Amino acid sequence: MLIWTKERGSIMPYQTVNPFTNETVRTYDYATAEQIDRALDVSHRLYLQWKTQNIADRAKLLRDIASALRTNQDELARVATLEMGKLFRESRGEVELCAVIADYFADHGAELLAPAALDTRATGSARILKQSTGVVLAVEPWNFPYYQIMRVFAPNFMVGNPLMLKHASNTPGAALAFEDLVKRAGAPSGSLTNLFLAYDQVGSVIADPRVQGIALTGSTRGGTAVAQEAGKNLKKNSMELGGSDAFIVLADADVTKAVELAWRTRLYNAGQVCTSSKRFIVADSLYDEFIEGLKKKFSTLVPGDPMDKGTTLAPLSSQKAKRKIQSQIDAAIAAGAHVEYGNTPIDMPGQFLEPTILTEIDRDNPAYSQEMFGPVAQVYRAADDDVALALANDGELGLGGIVYSGDLSHGERVAERIESGMVFVNTFLSSLPELPFGGIKASGYGRELSSLGLMAFVNEKLVLTAQEPDFANGVGALAIM
Ligand code: NAP
Repeated sequence: MLIWTKERGSIMPYQTVNPFTNETVRTYDYATAEQIDRALDVSHRLYLQWKTQNIADRAKLLRDIASALRTNQDELARVATLEMGKLFRESRGEVELCAVIADYFADHGAELLAPAALDTRATGSARILKQSTGVVLAVEPWNFPYYQIMRVFAPNFMVGNPLMLKHASNTPGAALAFEDLVKRAGAPSGSLTNLFLAYDQVGSVIADPRVQGIALTGSTRGGTAVAQEAGKNLKKNSMELGGSDAFIVLADADVTKAVELAWRTRLYNAGQVCTSSKRFIVADSLYDEFIEGLKKKFSTLVPGDPMDKGTTLAPLSSQKAKRKIQSQIDAAIAAGAHVEYGNTPIDMPGQFLEPTILTEIDRDNPAYSQEMFGPVAQVYRAADDDVALALANDGELGLGGIVYSGDLSHGERVAERIESGMVFVNTFLSSLPELPFGGIKASGYGRELSSLGLMAFVNEKLVLTAQEPDFANGVGALAIM
């Protein structure tokens, strides 16, 4: 069974290692069976208690959490930058986005969770109630160590589903900081409990009857393992997995503006974003200019301490992450890819990788179908829209995408034909609380954020009330059968 292949002791321990200095700052022990059981008990009791509580009380608490995030923005941002290396200003932006998400669900949760009346031919009135279902386990990655938690926490807090968190093994400090902030803002014990779980313990938590939902964000490999466990235990789950998103530059585009968007969307968070554009598919007539423009932009990046204002290229999150992407680049080149720019070592101790542009990637090159989770841009040439779309859709992943066009309706027509969960025309693929986030194909299923994400672990329960049974009516008889 895939999930058990890494037992405690053989997997990476939970530890904070600064990817800029390679210093191991702190190592953490795994949770004990007793700690796990106690945490599940506290959370389950909270779930029962929340069933009788007014949702307005939780909305107020969520606003307090948003405000605590803003008050502690720098402190939280420092922890994220220390653990996974992102630029300090990007860490600050992430904390603010968490506050925006918390405010959104505090403001709209009650309205979105209000009972909905149904038109029915049955005698009586029918309503859908939107009720909590139980404890939810969130398994999260390191690339946005706070935002990934908040995407699941805020909606479920409003619903009344307490959250257990299994964070990535390289961001334990962020997990603890988030848990602590929620507690200090006044949320009851059990609202969000961080547990340093080994993979086998994740399996036990999934199997526990007190847990009723599993939300995972991570790689297709991790998602497959956790989804297997959830399926085996018939637990509802949502999977937010990897992406190798296409950025299509149509022939009518302003190439300078397209480049301006392209380099930012590829290099933000050192290229470690599920929805980063990773494959640039450029109209033949603009191809050379696009490559020249991208090279120029990539060459302006300055590696350095991610805490410094002058640094524009952050280290990758870990030695493991750097090794993986370097081996993907090496394999791509061995299979015939051409290095248009980059791929020279950066002479600094941190986990830096020079932004790299690869072209001439054939369909049988491993890079063609792999997600490259770092500052590497693949650029393809397309003779027309149909060729561009065929390239964009030729893969197992389907998370997001960007279309750049000089004509918005042309851009929208192309966007409609992309096989993915999200497409943005002439702008960044951004995440906001009111916009649903998620993919199709091997990029996962279900949505987070927005009204769709709010319903992920809700019991949409039918209540039909009649004055008395309608024995004479055939429809009533059918219903009894
Ligand atoms: P990952 O290895 O799948 O890890 C994600 C989380 O799953 C971590 O907490 C990890 O724990 C846990 N995990 C992995 N395998 C597991 C198993 N067999 N049993 C139990 N837990 C398991 O993902 P990653 O490579 O660190 O993260 C990057 C990936 O996430 C990329 O593919 C990226 O595209 C994707 N991502 C997707 C979204 C989205 O919304 N669609 C957003 C961000 C990132 P450990 O750390 O202890 O291994």
